[in-house]
Amino acid sequence: MAVLKVAQLGHPILRRRAASVPRDTLRSRDFQRFVDDLIETMRKYSGVGLAAPQVHEGFQVLAVEAQKGQEEAPATPLTVLVNPVVTPLGNSLGEDWEGCLSLPGLRGKVPRHREVRVEALDRRGEPLDFTATDFFSRVIQHEYDHLQGITFLDRMKSFETLTYLDEYARYWAER
Ligand SMILES: [Zn+2]
Repeated sequence: MAVLKVAQLGHPILRRRAASVPRDTLRSRDFQRFVDDLIETMRKYSGVGLAAPQVHEGFQVLAVEAQKGQEEAPATPLTVLVNPVVTPLGNSLGEDWEGCLSLPGLRGKVPRHREVRVEALDRRGEPLDFTATDFFSRVIQHEYDHLQGITFLDRMKSFETLTYLDEYARYWAER
């Protein structure tokens, strides 16, 4: 496995819509190795999610995982989604902090749908259809946005909460 280079804000791939993964590609060794590398890279940089465009691959693949306590997050098992479609359920929105490995050192409050329906393939091409809520829902929406060329900055209502990590720890974390 290999740790991949993470694209930083300004790289055009972060603004492109990712292509869907063809069925044949899914079964290839190269694709399976890529998914392993995506997961390895997410873990190496302590991300709770990572999308293929963030490692310079314009395909609709994303990974989500959180260890207990990481990012003040509930433990979230490793989930790999291929060609996902994410649909909001209901009108309930919640605002919470997000960061991004492609925007290192920054955090901001982002409104997200509390509950979404997720339809996708897993890494072996088996269909998935489930409901995600709260933190899991938030991370999936963040990573799904990357597949559309959207960053969390685009989702912020205002930049008043946009902060560097040091200042986040000093002024915001307790609130
Ligand atoms: Zn991100």
